[in-house]
Amino acid sequence: MSARILNGNAIRDEIYGELMQEIAALSAAGVRPGLAAVLVGENPASQIYVRSKIAACEQLGLGSWLHTPPASATTKGLLMLVDELNATDEVDGILVQLPLSPQVDTKRILEAVDPAKDVDGFHPVNLGRLVSGRAGLVACTPSGCMEILRRSGIALDGANAVVVGRSDIVGKPMALLLMHANATVTICHSKTRDLPGVVRRADIVVAAIGRAAMVEPDWVRPGATVIDVGINRITDEAEAQRIFANFPAKLAQFKEKGSVLVGDVHPNVAEVAGAMTPVPGGVGPLTIAMLMSNTVKAARQRRGARGESAPGSLTGAAAAKP
Ligand code: NAP
Repeated sequence: MSARILNGNAIRDEIYGELMQEIAALSAAGVRPGLAAVLVGENPASQIYVRSKIAACEQLGLGSWLHTPPASATTKGLLMLVDELNATDEVDGILVQLPLSPQVDTKRILEAVDPAKDVDGFHPVNLGRLVSGRAGLVACTPSGCMEILRRSGIALDGANAVVVGRSDIVGKPMALLLMHANATVTICHSKTRDLPGVVRRADIVVAAIGRAAMVEPDWVRPGATVIDVGINRITDEAEAQRIFANFPAKLAQFKEKGSVLVGDVHPNVAEVAGAMTPVPGGVGPLTIAMLMSNTVKAARQRRGARGESAPGSLTGAAAAKP
């Protein structure tokens, strides 16, 4: 048996098609949704992430602004910048790329963002709304996972879902979204006993651990759906040989580039699972798509313009039942 591959790029394109119609409707009403990104210092990974977010804005015709304070920026300086962005009407979404420099109080900065512009869904007000099942701005990666599940026709009602990982940005909001969609949810972490045994009971597994290829084929119930959030870069040849023994194309890629990406799920799980997201090309494209969706949603809600419900809203298929 070979898993159906849940293609994140195709689902992203579908969402972009819907967003473009919504953006055109907003534009006709005189509103151009806009995203302001704050990139502190010169972390190369952060630069790549922010660049792809700005490129997505340009592709969709959204306004975008990039602020690049130096690595020496202080909490006070960044609070002033966030205040300024909060007060700028054309800015619908504010994205503060993490991590910030060690001298900065990250929580204070994130809590200073106006919840109505918090397109990352990290503000406690938006987290509280998610807990209580009210529509708000929801963290992009977990809402992207929900879009994959929903648009791939995976049944959630009454399903046993296991989320491995309990971070504030992925694991916890993911578990809440699944619960609101009527799955029976178990959250696992580094202290969970018999993790393989718990995962084996799942109809839906979401792996957000940050450990390369950790979820092995014998952890997965045959036919289960597996959503792999992890992104891990392998640079060790022996590890690449071990993980990708059955994937000559990936090994060739490693030989050529000296590194290869793998998720938190072993690629051989595809022989057992019923459906599975690839890495890359699975959850990753949806994270940016949901950032765009949240920016459009924030524009619609803030500036009072009317349009269709954006993908990923709690009023959509993943609606809460209070
Ligand atoms: P994180 O903050 O480091 O959280 C990892 C979670 O995994 C923690 O809850 C931790 O448990 C748990 N964990 C670690 N080792 C474990 C083990 N041996 N057994 C069971 N649980 C274990 O990571 P994150 O920010 O949630 O990200 C998770 C992964 O997703 C990373 O690979 C990251 O790169 C990726 N990611 C991808 C996207 C995307 O767009 N595709 C977006 C965000 C993150 P404790 O709480 O007990 O420590």
